[in-house]
Amino acid sequence: MKQASWKQQKQQILKDLNDHMDFLLIGSVVTYKHKCCKSCRCNQGKGHPGHYLSANINGKTKNLYLNKEAVDQARLMTQSYSEVKTLLKQLSEVNYRLLREKKPGPGRRQAGQQSGLEKRPGVVIKSDASSDDHQTPG
Ligand SMILES: [Zn+2]
Repeated sequence: MKQASWKQQKQQILKDLNDHMDFLLIGSVVTYKHKCCKSCRCNQGKGHPGHYLSANINGKTKNLYLNKEAVDQARLMTQSYSEVKTLLKQLSEVNYRLLREKKPGPGRRQAGQQSGLEKRPGVVIKSDASSDDHQTPG
């Protein structure tokens, strides 16, 4: 199975990132129950579901109450943040691979030093997937 080149993957990641960045919001949508008035049947238990967005703005937690329309939008926006985090990790890996592909080429040779011999010990280009550390969240 041949996978897309790292450069192609990078283009895709950048495109995805851009889409998500467009409406990125760091926070979480919280569902709560509220009761309106004594005569309403919501008093018999469940209450009416409501939603608010909890976001950290300038170091302070802000709760923004949302109407039904805004709930879906807010959910998408806060989901974008986790998508962006995932994409940033992928981008970092791709950039790492791209950097690693930059072998010292003929252009880097110092003129007039060695004749023909271009052996560089210790430079091994191989792909190992074992270095994927699992990052702790936060
Ligand atoms: Zn009610």
